[in-house]
Amino acid sequence: MKRSKWLQALWSERNSKHSSGSQSEVLLIDDLSVVWRKSSRRTRSLALKIDKRGQLVAMTPTRTTLSELRRFVGARNVWIRKQLAQHRQLEIQKQEDKGQRLWFMGEQLKVENQPGAKNRIHLESGLIQLVSRKTVSRHALDMRLTKWLRAQAESELPLRLEKLSQQTGLCGSGLQIKSYTARWGSCRHDGFIQLNWKLIKTPVEVIDYVIIHELCHLRHFNHSAAFWGQVRRFCPEYKDHRKWLKENGRLLISS
Ligand SMILES: [Zn+2]
Repeated sequence: MKRSKWLQALWSERNSKHSSGSQSEVLLIDDLSVVWRKSSRRTRSLALKIDKRGQLVAMTPTRTTLSELRRFVGARNVWIRKQLAQHRQLEIQKQEDKGQRLWFMGEQLKVENQPGAKNRIHLESGLIQLVSRKTVSRHALDMRLTKWLRAQAESELPLRLEKLSQQTGLCGSGLQIKSYTARWGSCRHDGFIQLNWKLIKTPVEVIDYVIIHELCHLRHFNHSAAFWGQVRRFCPEYKDHRKWLKENGRLLISS
């Protein structure tokens, strides 16, 4: 078999396997790289698409000439460039999503974006799944994640406070969950405790330490040796938790 014949045979074999009898070639129209796919089957008119890899593909009947294709592509220049730009934007977004992580209970969980019928966020096997009805901006997704985190804090923190109140016998007059950028919690003179919702990003032992710290202020309204003695009684490893907050807290509290 002559080399050219052999190549032709190989070519048609590959095409029959992969694209049901179509012929493809890559060409340049203006500065656009176009995969020209001619097909005798089904294709009756000219069509364009951007494939998964961001490649412009023109599908035409076999009888279409190069000048017809050039005219067709030229007339759709604006549409093509818009589609290509959109594809690039989506790719950038996907790359960002790959690296996106969210602090939750002391762990940096991977966030996975996926399309779905209803907007929702759920935690499954160490992964935060962010399901969206339509494509929205990065900022809008971040806002949804923040809202979700805060909701987790609103349900988790009161439970932990109640449990620790029972364990320590120290009971405040109420709880408010707030957003602070420079403190994790506070205890008012009237016994009202305020906790930063961002605590939900820290390990559970750190959350408990902060709550115990505020509960101990119900007895000692200062940071005296007696105060720390009481904190140690209920939370023997409190120094480790303070250290954890010192090392990681600034990042978690500022966002
Ligand atoms: Zn304090």
